[in-house]
Amino acid sequence: MHLKERVRLCSRCFSITEDDPCAVCADVRRNGSLICVVAEAKDVFAIERTSAYDGRYHVLGGLISPMDGIGPSQLRVRELVDRVAAEAPDEIVVATNPNAEGEATALYLSRLLVPSGVRVTRLAYGLPIGGDLDYADETTLARAIEGRRAL
Ligand SMILES: [Zn+2]
Repeated sequence: MHLKERVRLCSRCFSITEDDPCAVCADVRRNGSLICVVAEAKDVFAIERTSAYDGRYHVLGGLISPMDGIGPSQLRVRELVDRVAAEAPDEIVVATNPNAEGEATALYLSRLLVPSGVRVTRLAYGLPIGGDLDYADETTLARAIEGRRAL
């Protein structure tokens, strides 16, 4: 049995999973009115470790980075827009790293999604500037989730 063969992307949130949909997407007790947007699947696991968040996720597959030639079309932005239309969440929590790419991505998503009537929030920092979300300790990350504010 090879682990690699069983690991795939969730067709709904694009997190890494063995089952599709993933455990978070399949769990009816999760809060469907919240979608937390992260750059990478590892950020999902970092936030899950805090137990401070009970909504769902959306993994972009990276961050907007003009210097590296990465724009919204290379990320799962269209899939997010489709989910907002289909699932009608109340709030999108943008949980990108507190660096230039993370900020650019958060601002882009805010401008894109707010006109559709959804609230877009960003984690409070708290988190070390320039640091990586998944290196933050659980207490700091939990506080950042609880203290999120509108973009
Ligand atoms: Zn999923």
